[in-house]
Amino acid sequence: MITIVGGGLAGSEAAWQAASQGVPVTLHEMRPVRPTAVHKTDRLAELVCSNSLRGDKLDNAVGLLKEEMRRLESLIMRAAEASRVPAGAALAVDRERFSEAITHALTTHPLVTIVRDEVVAIPSATERDPVIVATGPLTSEALSADIARLVGAEHLYFYDAISPIVLAESIDRGKVFRASRWNRSIRLKPDPAYRLSAADPANTGPACGVDDGEGDYLNCPLTREEYERFYDALIHAESATVHDFDKEKFFEGCLPIEVMAHRGADTLRFGPMKPVGLTDPRTGRPPYAAVQLRQDNLAGDHYSLVGFQTQLKWSEQARVLRLIPGLEAAEFARFGLVHRNTYVNGPNVLMETWQVRRRPALFFAGQMSGVEGYVESAASGLLAGLNAARMAGGQPLSSPPRTTAIGALAYYVSHANPAHYDPSNITFGIMEPLANAPRSKVAKKLAISERALGDLERWRDGLKAVACIAPDVGHGVQTVPNR
Ligand SMILES: Cc1cc2nc3c(=O)[nH]c(=O)nc-3n(C[C@H](O)[C@H](O)[C@H](O)COP(=O)(O)OP(=O)(O)OC[C@H]3O[C@@H](n4cnc5c(N)ncnc54)[C@H](O)[C@@H]3O)c2cc1C
Repeated sequence: MITIVGGGLAGSEAAWQAASQGVPVTLHEMRPVRPTAVHKTDRLAELVCSNSLRGDKLDNAVGLLKEEMRRLESLIMRAAEASRVPAGAALAVDRERFSEAITHALTTHPLVTIVRDEVVAIPSATERDPVIVATGPLTSEALSADIARLVGAEHLYFYDAISPIVLAESIDRGKVFRASRWNRSIRLKPDPAYRLSAADPANTGPACGVDDGEGDYLNCPLTREEYERFYDALIHAESATVHDFDKEKFFEGCLPIEVMAHRGADTLRFGPMKPVGLTDPRTGRPPYAAVQLRQDNLAGDHYSLVGFQTQLKWSEQARVLRLIPGLEAAEFARFGLVHRNTYVNGPNVLMETWQVRRRPALFFAGQMSGVEGYVESAASGLLAGLNAARMAGGQPLSSPPRTTAIGALAYYVSHANPAHYDPSNITFGIMEPLANAPRSKVAKKLAISERALGDLERWRDGLKAVACIAPDVGHGVQTVPNR
C-alpha cells in the first residue's frame, strides 16, 4: 500500500498513477479539517491562484510537458481537458470543474482511500509500503519541522526569493562585459568607501545571491544618468498583489529590489548593483552601478539577474528591467518573485526518481520537492506515483531520459548546483541540447519536442520490460547520503 500526504496537484496525480498500476493508495488531505492560507475549498487539486496551466503548444516547454503527461495518462491533464475554457494558445480551466473532476475520479476509485486529517510527522516508509509527501508550498508547521529533522534544516527553505531569468541570446553582448568581482583573486571584502550607515541593511552581509567572487558574470554597466532613470522607473513601478502571509518580514539579505530602492536612492548601489571590484574594459574604471548576470543552466542559454528578487508585476518587471544597458531587448525565461514556499534543496536531498536519498522508500513530490508551477508539480507527482507503485510491486525504478521535459525536470531537481538552488519551471534550457539543431528558434523547439515525444514513448513502452533502469536511480531501500 502507498501512503500519500497532501491532496494537491502532485498528490492527486501520484495517487491516480499508483492506483492505475493496481496498487492501493491512502491519500491524506488536511483540508477542510485544517485550512491553509490560500486554499478556499475542500476539493483535491485546487488551483490556488491563476486558472491557467500556461502554454499548450509544442514550441513551448510547458506545452511539451503537458503533452508528455497526456501520453502517460495523467489525471490532471484529463481533468484539464474536460474543464478547458478559451485562452488562445494557453490551456486554462474552469477551476471548480477541474478540481471537482479530480476529486470525483479519486473518491470513486476502488483502490483509493481518502482520509481528511493533518499528518504531523512523516509516516514510516518501507519498500513494500512507500510514502509520498506532497504537501506543497504551504506544508503545515508540524510536518515542516519533521521534514527539517529528516533532511537537515539547512536543506529546507520557507521562502522563495527568485530573481528574473533572461535568455542569453537576448542580451546585447556589445554593452555587457564578462568579469567576476575582484577578478576572482580577492575574496569579497566590505569596502569602507561603500559603507552607508551601520543601520543600513546593505551592510548586514552580502545580499541574497550576490557575487561572491567565484565564477564568471556578465556585467551590465550603468552611468549615473542610466542608474537614475532606472531607479526612478523602479520606485514608481506597480507591485503584484501579495497575500497576507507574504507580508511577513522579508529576510534582510533577500529584500525585493523595489523595497531596497524605497530605502534610499543609493541603497541598490551598495547592494546588488554595487560596482565595486568591477572594471569596465571600455573606460578602465568601475561603472557608476552594475547589474550582474549569472549563468543559470548547464546549457548556458539562461542568465539570472543576481540579487534581483522582486514582487513587481510581470509586465512591470519587463518594462523596468529593459532599462538596464544590455537588457533592452531581454526575453524573460522566468520573472522574479518573493513568496512563501516550503521546499527542499532538491540536488542535496533527492534522486532522479523523486526518492529521498537518505530514505529511498520515501518520495517528495510537487512544489515542496523544488519545482515551480502547477504543471511541474503535477508532473513530479506523476513520476513519484509511478515509481512508488513500481517499488511496492518489486520492480526497478526509472526516470525518463533528459531529452524529455519530464526527465529534464527530474534531472534538474536532482543535479542542479545545490549552492544556488532555485525551484524551476520547465524550460527548453534544462533539457539535453539537440545536436545539429535547426537555426530558426521555433523549428529548433519543435525538433526538441519531436525528439522528446519519441524518447518518452520508448521509455514508457520499455517500462513494461523490467530492464529499463536510469543511471543514478535507486532500487529498493539502498540509502544514499545527502550530498
Ligand atoms: C500563493 C501562491 C500562488 C501560486 N500561484 C501559482 C500560479 O498562478 N500558477 C502556477 O503555476 N503555480 C502557482 N503557485 C505555485 C504552485 O504551482 C502551486 O502552489 C501548486 O498548487 C503546487 O502543487 P502541490 O501539489 O505541490 O501543492 P498544493 O497544491 O498546495 O497541495 C498540497 C496539499 O497538501 C495539503 N497539506 C499541507 N500540509 C499537510 C499536512 N501536514 N497533512 C495533510 N495535508 C497537508 C494542503 O492542504 C494541500 O491541499 C502558487 C503558489 C502559491 C503559494
